[in-house]
Amino acid sequence: MTEWLKNYPKNSIIIKAYEFANKAHENEKRANGDPYIIHPLKVAETVYNWHFDESSIAAALLHDTLEDTPHSLKEIIKIFGQEIAFLVDGLTKLETVKYPGEETNVENLRKLIISFSKDLRVIIIKLADREHNMKTIQYLPPERQRQVAWETYEIYASLAHRLGMQNLAGELEDLAMPYLYSEEYEWLIDNVTELFEERQLYAERVKPEILKILKENNVEPVQIDSRAKRYASLYKKLLRYDMQLDKIYDLIALRIVVKSVEECYAALGIIHKYWQPLPSRIKDYIARPKPNGYRSIHTTVFCLDNKITEFQIRTLEMHEEAEMGIAAHWAYQQIKSSERHRRNWLGVQNRRELLWVEQLRNWQKNFSDKHNFLESLQGDFFKERIFVITPQNDVIDLPAGSTPVDFAYQIHSKIGDECVGAKINNKIVPLDYELHSGDLVEISTQHGKKPSADWLKFIKTALAKKRIKSFTKIQNRKLNKKTGIINLEFKITCEDRQGYLKDLTEVFDTAKINIEYLNSQTDQRHKFTSVTARCGVSSNFKLEKIILKLKKIPGTVEVSYKMNR
Ligand code: MN
Repeated sequence: MTEWLKNYPKNSIIIKAYEFANKAHENEKRANGDPYIIHPLKVAETVYNWHFDESSIAAALLHDTLEDTPHSLKEIIKIFGQEIAFLVDGLTKLETVKYPGEETNVENLRKLIISFSKDLRVIIIKLADREHNMKTIQYLPPERQRQVAWETYEIYASLAHRLGMQNLAGELEDLAMPYLYSEEYEWLIDNVTELFEERQLYAERVKPEILKILKENNVEPVQIDSRAKRYASLYKKLLRYDMQLDKIYDLIALRIVVKSVEECYAALGIIHKYWQPLPSRIKDYIARPKPNGYRSIHTTVFCLDNKITEFQIRTLEMHEEAEMGIAAHWAYQQIKSSERHRRNWLGVQNRRELLWVEQLRNWQKNFSDKHNFLESLQGDFFKERIFVITPQNDVIDLPAGSTPVDFAYQIHSKIGDECVGAKINNKIVPLDYELHSGDLVEISTQHGKKPSADWLKFIKTALAKKRIKSFTKIQNRKLNKKTGIINLEFKITCEDRQGYLKDLTEVFDTAKINIEYLNSQTDQRHKFTSVTARCGVSSNFKLEKIILKLKKIPGTVEVSYKMNR
């Protein structure tokens, strides 16, 4: 099983990584009793087969070495360099994402995983890791089985699908299905297996026939094969067709791979000439690719013995992309040697990047704030958002730099208004604490508490800002209800005497005037004090009364005032 390792010389980084991992996991066993190293070796082999770069393969070998072993990230940096260490670190962090329960917001959880990854290769290696874990899932305790299967089905299969890795997505779903939907799975096995076999035999009969027809018309296919529909995707389709198996035409589809796009359309014409197509079953995903980048032409015809049969026609490049998605893009990047490849690759890359943006757009659909949406498209979407977890295991999506107050308002405006404290991962933190992806956030509230204008200095979300601003506005309006309020700044010069300030505040208190700002400075040499006080006074009449009273305080030398604003 380690045949592929032989491609690397003894002093290569790959062999070094292998030896390091082998030593680190020396005394560890997997749940099935195998030596642990078998797992990282399998994951690395998958990454190797996907044609990823050496850093990714090395990181795959090392991906579990920081967990449950005495090794540190520093050590990895020292031996393997920043890039590999960065990937290993990302993979280790992903392991810390706690299983949130099946009630969580799945979409945000996917985003959390992505924001944690920072580099696409981390997700790719994680997918390879997950694929191998799913293949050995039978050795886990039942409760853990369901958790892992759920994560795989809802999170990783879906990510694989969005990255265009259809084959892997389908495989992950099929591996998870028996643990999540065991009854449905058994129903499928009972009802479909025979049908699958029968259709497979039929497809084997069609293959030489279609080959002959294409050749007669000067189309030389690269390959023709038949692919059976995945169980999980079949089940989802059946749900839409009232569980009627005879309505599913692509239970087994024949796939024709040709050399060029022109030949794709030529092949379509040839097939239609011999076998009558079903109306509105022709799908041209070459002219209009699916959002995840999938390209092919599909058609369904009355084939041999008048049986309804689906054909999928594509070029070799489309085929690789359909199977491998974004990973195929990576492979192209690796083969930049010839000009032809470079040109091909550039085309693929640009298109891929467009699709990536399109996927982001889908993810962004939920963000109603237009400005936020544009901002995050311009910058690096994942760097600018964080995902934190509530005590109820929901994942909350926030802009980077958000604080517990932003979080509280995101949960509910009342929780925001009344929040007095926060705990992150069970530790008490100040309300201006900067949250990080994966933080478990708890808010303590006090009934009847009002939001503080000070929060405006550190909060990040538009929602919290709006709420606090409108609250302070209401407060100000309440204060200004008796129209004609005068904002004043008093300057009082007085003798430096103990108790003067107390007497002064009492004057304002009895007049029911709230002092907004109070400051006093004493001139040591001349033994007098200068007091500044700001407040709002509702009428000139009241102002004169105040001045009179201030002057009567023992020790007052002079009282002056100016109007503010
Ligand atoms: Mn692993």
